[in-house]
Amino acid sequence: MMINRVAIIGLGLLGGSIGLAVQARGLAIATTGWDRDPQVRAKAAERGLVGRVCETAAEAVANADLVILCVPVGAMGDAARELAPGLSPHAIISDVGSSKEAVAEALSAALPGACIIPAHPVAGTEQSGPDAGFATLFAGRWCIITPPYGVEPAALTALSDFWTKLGSKVELMDAAHHDLVLAVTSHIPHLIAYTIVGTASDLEDVTQSEVIKYSAGGFRDFTRIAASDPVMWRDVFLTNKGAVLEMLGRFSEDLTALQRAIRSGDGDTLFDLFTRTRAIRRQVIEQGQDDGRPDFGRGHGG
Ligand code: NAP
Repeated sequence: MMINRVAIIGLGLLGGSIGLAVQARGLAIATTGWDRDPQVRAKAAERGLVGRVCETAAEAVANADLVILCVPVGAMGDAARELAPGLSPHAIISDVGSSKEAVAEALSAALPGACIIPAHPVAGTEQSGPDAGFATLFAGRWCIITPPYGVEPAALTALSDFWTKLGSKVELMDAAHHDLVLAVTSHIPHLIAYTIVGTASDLEDVTQSEVIKYSAGGFRDFTRIAASDPVMWRDVFLTNKGAVLEMLGRFSEDLTALQRAIRSGDGDTLFDLFTRTRAIRRQVIEQGQDDGRPDFGRGHGG
């Protein structure tokens, strides 16, 4: 099974980056795209995010071998219904959504009988929209594919090869396990960042201007994550409810234990935890998942 034509639905950060990556890597794959917002379509055409920006979803997916939905997870069902009339019977339908069980259900309900193989490139930034995409977003990053039971092996191989050609490392995973893993590595960290930034902005005794002025003490690193797209993240929490609540329960218990350690002056507990967490940071860098320079390589020149 060869992928010669890819249709991208949703031309924001993820959709735009896929289109740019296909073109920048010189792959012999034609790209079409559609977004429900006419201003996004105009911007996508201006930036050349895909070879051809179409006026309807059905037009964009006509003759496509692979259709990738790059819309917020809560919009996957609607977008799939919109493109259904133009879909070729042999097309593979995939997506980039950050939660996988709910998306698989929404796509199967909207496109019964279609070859659906959900996926999640674990790559992104806090920016969104058609200006945000860039061709190297997926280079060296993992793409987790969550094939449903009984998937056609040739279609799975074609999708894996596509992501490999974009520079990603591909891993196959069960959708429920994906949702649990991502709850810990992505969804809870976002919730914590949203909380801490929200709490700081609601304080009475410490002014907001003080919070911003002294943010280099650590707070500013949370503000990057807390600047992430509100629609996307609202949908992630609503569609990965079970795994997020399970992990949040675990997190609250650990936080309570730390509270107790601080209150009782138990320095050993604090020291042991902080030593373990430092080792995790080293592993993230060693495995090429972040910049190893101090303070993310930010300039500190005087
Ligand atoms: P984005 O930059 O906001 O782009 C999404 C685009 O989809 C927007 O232009 C939006 O238009 C459009 N859209 C919304 N509903 C639509 C519909 N029913 N039909 C057609 N277009 C529609 O978001 P993104 O960051 O690319 O995220 C897209 C997907 O990637 C999400 O499912 C997210 O979970 C996943 N993801 C994101 C990241 C990340 O770091 N951002 C990483 C990995 C995966 P409007 O603005 O008009 O709504």
